[in-house]
Amino acid sequence: MSIMIDNSDNIGIYIHVPFCLSKCRYCDFYSLTGAGDTLLDAYADAVCADLETWRGRFDASADTIYFGGGTPSLLGAVRISRIIQCAARLFNISMDSAEITLEANPDTVTPKAAAGLMSGGVNRLSLGMQSSDRHELELLGRRHTPDSVKRAVEAAVNAGFDNVSVDIMLGIMGQSIESAVQTVDFAVSLGVSHISAYMLKVEEGTPLYRDRAKYDIPGEDEVCDIYLAVCARLEKSGFSQYEISNFSRPGAECRHNLKYWRLTPYIGIGPSAHSYIGKERLYYPRSLEGFLKDGHKALKYEEKSAGDIEEYVMLRLRLCEGLDMSEVAEIYGEREAESIYVRAKRLSENGLVSISGSRLQLDREGFLISNSIIAYLLYD
Ligand code: SF4
Repeated sequence: MSIMIDNSDNIGIYIHVPFCLSKCRYCDFYSLTGAGDTLLDAYADAVCADLETWRGRFDASADTIYFGGGTPSLLGAVRISRIIQCAARLFNISMDSAEITLEANPDTVTPKAAAGLMSGGVNRLSLGMQSSDRHELELLGRRHTPDSVKRAVEAAVNAGFDNVSVDIMLGIMGQSIESAVQTVDFAVSLGVSHISAYMLKVEEGTPLYRDRAKYDIPGEDEVCDIYLAVCARLEKSGFSQYEISNFSRPGAECRHNLKYWRLTPYIGIGPSAHSYIGKERLYYPRSLEGFLKDGHKALKYEEKSAGDIEEYVMLRLRLCEGLDMSEVAEIYGEREAESIYVRAKRLSENGLVSISGSRLQLDREGFLISNSIIAYLLYD
């Protein structure tokens, strides 16, 4: 079945790589351990075959590729380069201007690996650093150390990467405001251009959830204080916040992730990957076997309608640029826009929301209670 899309926007391509060296205690992402070369080869073949099938369903160009996981660096530069070339050929990707990101475990970014990734077409690396505190890393079940993050960033920079991001985690067991701020300072000292600061979620079914009573997991108020302190430190260090959890040097915002929040179409390939295209949301079930066996036929449609006003408001208000009411009026009608505006005006008196011209934005305290604010704006 072909898909109708508005191809005025370049789409994004997400490739999920469901392999890890070992499982971190808190992790709920779909990934498996122990993959060997034969399986990795078969996976790269399946991704390329699926890219071909997607291309047969609609006509569009892409300008971002994002390898997420899992630990995509485990695929190795040769397979990654093959997938990039396949995507570039099928989706008219200009290698001079596209953003091609790869998530990597710091331990896997050696000088040789970094050089291979760079020559294979990757131009942005995202390293899962999480913390600069060895004890916090151990509690999370991470294999790397702060020193290996430093070595990975050096290897990346020496290989020519000028766009490196690190993820840090807020709300780790035993974390204090001081240790979170030290993690920020360590990340900044590495010279990276982008930092993502995610809150630890204790997901059901993970070892952390099972053993949660054993750990000193910061409560909601403590995590909010850590978040606000981290945001302030990042700002002071020259990083601008552009989304609830994302901060960058000028011009280094992640173009691929911006597509998610701005509801620009993207396709996701691999078990558990999601797509938003032709005003539909589709996903592959969390089964490597199913993906390898059935490929594109394994895709399922989400029941919830995609791109409705609730989703639009929720995603746009994650961004510091906020929601443009004239755009809401154009897409969803004057009445919807007016009713959101009237409620936002009331909230702005408490300082959680600010209104400037037709733009509505949340401040940092507002980000922390964004679900309640969005429910109020849409349904109160
Ligand atoms: S490396 Fe990332 S994807 Fe793999 S288990 Fe750890 S948190 Fe999960």
